[in-house]
This record gives sequence, structure tokens and C-alpha cells, in this order.
Amino acid sequence: MTDSTRPHRFATQAIHAGASPDPATGARVQPIYFTNGFVFDSTEQAADIFAVRKTGYSYSRGSNPTVAALERRVAALEGAKAAIAVASGQSAVLLVLMTLLRSGDAYVASPRLFGGSLGLMRRLDGRYDLRPRFAKGMTPEDFEAAITPECRAIVCESIVNPCGYVTDLEGVAAVARRHGLPLVVDNTLASPALIRPIEHGADIVVHSTSKFLGGSGQTIGGVICDAGSFDWVKAGGYDLINGPWPDYDGLVIPERFPETPFAVACRLFGLRDLGPGLSPMNAFLTLTGIETLPLRMERHCANAKAVAAFLKDHPKVAWVSYPGLPGQTGEENARRYTPQGPGSIFTVALKGGEPAALAFIAGLELVSHLVNIGEIKSLAIHPATTTHRQLPDSEKAAAFVGPETVRLSIGLENAEDLIADIAQALDRVD
Ligand SMILES: *Cc1c(COP(=O)(O)O)cnc(C)c1O
Repeated sequence: MTDSTRPHRFATQAIHAGASPDPATGARVQPIYFTNGFVFDSTEQAADIFAVRKTGYSYSRGSNPTVAALERRVAALEGAKAAIAVASGQSAVLLVLMTLLRSGDAYVASPRLFGGSLGLMRRLDGRYDLRPRFAKGMTPEDFEAAITPECRAIVCESIVNPCGYVTDLEGVAAVARRHGLPLVVDNTLASPALIRPIEHGADIVVHSTSKFLGGSGQTIGGVICDAGSFDWVKAGGYDLINGPWPDYDGLVIPERFPETPFAVACRLFGLRDLGPGLSPMNAFLTLTGIETLPLRMERHCANAKAVAAFLKDHPKVAWVSYPGLPGQTGEENARRYTPQGPGSIFTVALKGGEPAALAFIAGLELVSHLVNIGEIKSLAIHPATTTHRQLPDSEKAAAFVGPETVRLSIGLENAEDLIADIAQALDRVD
């Protein structure tokens, strides 16, 4: 049982937080509640739950006990007050932007982001007039210079996909605070085992659980965490959060739920209205994955460092982007924010350009050519023709995904075997 009066340490929370033996049967493992509906005690209770006068389960699109266990666990690991699980990391980013912004609003975005986030931001700009203002670089000053009066948030990644750059979260959080804006951090590549953005000033944290949290590459999922730290009422605007909601009898969320108004707005708008809830089966698999997260992240980081060090000195390699090696760009932020290591995703550029990059991927035998990251198995992809293909060439270079570049996600195999596979693939490159 979890004892809320005595906070446990991280590895213990990864195993126990948010779930306890099933009171109905004693089952030790979190049961999978495969049910769409939940029987109401009375017509009054049904009406109260529908009107958000009371909380309780009604229909699994909005909440489900297995999914709720995952939400409590991720919230505990991130140090958040509440979390909302959704069907994918992509829908987590979507729901955060849709809950915070209305047409005509803008937000500052990091210039280096996951390709899917960049694509989503451009589409939301074109179709719904939610306007990203991309910072010119990665320093806090760059983020500050991009702020305009219409801006309602700042969005960045803790560790950038795919280059592995570690963002100066405290610097960017200080900018956000100075301008009264909430800071949204996509923490997918770090996982809470390496970075807990809320401790560095983030107000909202999002995850693709398809990566390190699930860990085995079995299920797609996402989570949104609400730190409960941002004063929405004082900031004003944010009409979905500050209400009132006429269809819920004039509900004003910050009055009814003062601790977690953002999470409640996300659930009512994002899950009840828009609908991308997470399947209980996927929540169960993700919960199981999280139990080994701290152990896995140690090995991911150690293996990535060994592989990156081998690649950096290889005669056919122009550069690697892993900031966990001495003398690399971004080394200082990596040391400051990720003492265990900056994760296991980075890019490597081949001297032979695109033909060499493609031949290298084709020559890999143990490392799989596939588009996920953060799995137990090691993976490689050519971002310029896949994940980041929609970027203009100048932006590809800035994001470290030029044609000569391969993204690696280093898994948990023996490092010697990974290095041997990579060495034989490089031998076959002209
Ligand atoms: C993969 C990824 C996403 C999208 O997550 P899906 O689960 O694939 O929808 C969002 N952000 C980052 C940083 C990612 O790596």
C-alpha cells in the first residue's frame, strides 16, 4: 500500500504510486477494467456526475479506473497534482494547445521539436489560427525575444527529439514567470527518471508514453500533467479554464477545483468533448512498463554514452549530437539537468552524406530500422526523409537532421554487441 503521509523515493513510486491491491478481490496487479459504463447508485448520483457536482466513473471516454491508476502514477513521478492520460503523445500536445488557446492566440515554441509536434503546430496555425512563434535559438533570451502580446504559453522539450539537446529549463521558466505565461514541457525523451520539469519551473508536462514510459514499444499513449502551480485566475483570459461553462450550470472550474483547474478543463474539453481517451489495456501495459523505468534509464544512458563515444571517433563519422560526452555542444546543460546522462536518443552525421547515411541504416543487423524511440531494442531512422521530411532544408540543418544524419535510439542490449553491429555497418559504407 502507498502511504501518503510518508513520500516514497522515485524507484518505489515507479512500482507503487497510484495503485494498490484490488479491494474487491485482493489482486496484487492493477486489474484491467474493460467496461465502457459504470452502474450508477441512483438517478441523483448520475445527474451529479454529469453536471460535475460530484466526481465518479460514468463512461470510459472520460475516465476509467485502470487509466486513473496510470494517471496517478505519472502524476506522482512528475511531482504533479493531477494527470490526464490520452490516446497518444500527439493528442497530448494537441489537447494542451486546444485547452490553452483560442483562435488568434499565439504561443512561443522551441525551434527544435519532435517532427510531429512541428507538423501539428503548422496545421493548427493554418486551419485554426493558433499561432506558433518559433524562438530563433535555444537560449532563454531567444525564447523571451519571441514573446508577443498575443502569446499565452511557452512550449519546449526537456531533451530535444532527435538531437538530444538538453534545454535550460530554469532559464526558460524564469522568462515564462516574468511574462506571466505557463511553461509547457514535453518530457518524453527524458522521462521523469532523468528530468522532473516541474522542479525546474514547468507548469504543464506532457509525455508520449509510447517511448520510455511504456518502454517495450507495445502501445501508443500520452499523458498531460498539471503541476497546479500556475495562477490562471490572476493571469486572466484562458476562457476554457476560467469559465464559466454554461453547459455545466455555469461551472467555474478554478472555484470548484482550485488545485488542478487545467487538468479539469483538459478532461472536460479534451476527453468528454474531443474524445481521445486511452484504452485500459494500453494503460495497464504502460503501468507495467513504468515499474522498471528507473533501472532501464540507467542502462539506456550508459549504453548511449558508450555508443556515442565509439561513433564520435570513427573516421567515417562527421559528428555526433550526444551532449553527454565531454567537449560536446550543450555539455553544460546536460551536466546540470541530467547528471545520470541525457537519455539515449541522438543523431550521427556521416562524412559520406545522404548515400552513406542510407547505406549505414541498410547495413545494420541488430539495430532495427524503425520510427519509434525509447524502446528496449536499439533503433535507427533517417529523419530527413521520414520524421522531419516536411521541414525546409535550412531548418533541417538547424535541427541536426540534415540528409547526412541518422537518428539512433540506443536500447538495453550489451553495448559491445551494439558497437560491433554499428562498426560492421560503417565498414560497408563507402
Ligand atoms: C513521439 C513523440 C511525440 C508523439 O507521441 P506519439 O505517442 O507517437 O503520438 C510527442 N513528442 C515527442 C518528443 C515525441 O518523441
